[in-house]
Amino acid sequence: MVHFVGAGPGAPDLITLRGAAHLKAADVVIYAGSLVNPLLLQNCREGCEIHNSAHMTLDEILSVTEEAEAAGKTTVRLHTGDPSLYGAVREQMDALREKKIPFDVTPGVSSLFGAAASLNAEFTLPGVSQSLIITRLAGRTEVPEGEKLRDFARHGASMALFLSGGMPDRVQAELLAGGCPPETPAALVYKATWPDEKCLRCTVGTLAETAAEAGISKTVLILVGDFLDGPCEKSRLYDPSFTTAFREGRAE
Ligand code: SAH
Repeated sequence: MVHFVGAGPGAPDLITLRGAAHLKAADVVIYAGSLVNPLLLQNCREGCEIHNSAHMTLDEILSVTEEAEAAGKTTVRLHTGDPSLYGAVREQMDALREKKIPFDVTPGVSSLFGAAASLNAEFTLPGVSQSLIITRLAGRTEVPEGEKLRDFARHGASMALFLSGGMPDRVQAELLAGGCPPETPAALVYKATWPDEKCLRCTVGTLAETAAEAGISKTVLILVGDFLDGPCEKSRLYDPSFTTAFREGRAE
């Protein structure tokens, strides 16, 4: 059996209870060493076989998994944040299905939510934005034609950009080209929830210089949108005059 587990954004106590239980019981752990906090591995049982997938190819990962399965062992494949975002899990699942190796998935706290928490931010604010665009800039990995950053920028919705911290100048240029006003609030969150986390608030117009000054390029999330600063309306949910399935509204 293989358990795909989301490790959370960094702080070792942000893994889920289920994920931690799988990790504790595992015979073999393959963890994404480039981003997963190694402190999490302290909870593994004695004798647990640990592999860092940062140094491995897909075939090598699969052969470790297959060998473990043949020996009746349980494998945890530990991914950073939530496995469903930029986790390259689908190709592993396809291979496991083909080899008839059973697996399941335990979600994790994405760094996207770790970053929002560190900024005390809410992505979906009434009267500001009710949508969140999760995307990345094209780099060595292509982005489909219809998903160019400048096209998304036109929506004015809240945005979270993964895997783009090394190209802040291109991010800034794309956002501006898409009609995003330069004074639009932005933030760079480096290593969200890690002890050396840095939260840098700026604007779209100062993104590139802010990143350069801080000298950060890896493990960075770029958040963009008016949700980061400025006014918003109150939600209907707690409005005394608004009736919900759980509460009768009353005239004020
Ligand atoms: N599945 C992961 C994302 C993996 S892709 C998740 O849900 O968070 C790797 C990218 O995620 C990095 O380039 C960076 O953009 C972002 N990232 C991962 N952990 C981060 C953290 N603690 N702080 C800021 N960005 C992070």
